[in-house]
Amino acid sequence: MSTEKSLAIVLRLVEFSETSVIATLFTEDFGKISALAKGARRPKGPFEAALDLLAVCRIVFLHKSSDALDLLTEAKLERRFRAATRNLSHLYAGYYVAELLQDLTDDGDPHPQLFQAANQTLIELDDACDVATTVLRFEMIALHEVGHLPSFDRCVGCGNELSMEGRIAFGQLAGGVLCPQCRVGQRQVVSVSAGVIRAFRCFSDPNDSWRRMELDRGLRGELRGVLNHYLANLLGRKPRMHRYLGVLAE
Ligand SMILES: [Zn+2]
Repeated sequence: MSTEKSLAIVLRLVEFSETSVIATLFTEDFGKISALAKGARRPKGPFEAALDLLAVCRIVFLHKSSDALDLLTEAKLERRFRAATRNLSHLYAGYYVAELLQDLTDDGDPHPQLFQAANQTLIELDDACDVATTVLRFEMIALHEVGHLPSFDRCVGCGNELSMEGRIAFGQLAGGVLCPQCRVGQRQVVSVSAGVIRAFRCFSDPNDSWRRMELDRGLRGELRGVLNHYLANLLGRKPRMHRYLGVLAE
């Protein structure tokens, strides 16, 4: 058992007893952890108001070596997620960030870059950002970080670069674009406009060019169709928050 410190985003809070909760936290240094927070439900408990959904806090916890829950000993609020006061779509987008962190990462598997991207996304959702592009950028970084970013430039079958014109075959199960030869016999292949593939490439590029990219309504709708299906395959179900996030395709 060791005492550890990290910055953390609160993903989930589940009542454990009259006075305690189990907090699922996405930490910068240790990835996702579940920790028992004793006394968190008491009005003047040791964590005060730090344990709030999507809040960012500095935590101290006892890291258990076995399967036992970690024990949270300290949580100091750094920043609260206030998007609810702005707009429901910003709030739901925040919940969606939490859902992806929860479901795409494993316990105790650190992803500091993903932590920073999530933190930055929550800051932007707290402000007057464009929800659809902010969320799409986060999705691309999250998929990249967990090793599931589809290939958008080279055929996943043969590795040849594809020309970005007309319609392009995208293999939902193959995990990326397919050339005419390699698409033969593949299951769950959709035909996607080159504009959508270009948009995916732009939003998954490490630089900031996505901020200058405009997505018109037709493009957004087609892009969401492809990505929602891909994520549902990856997670084994539709992400829960998608039904509240029609704004992504508008
Ligand atoms: Zn090929």
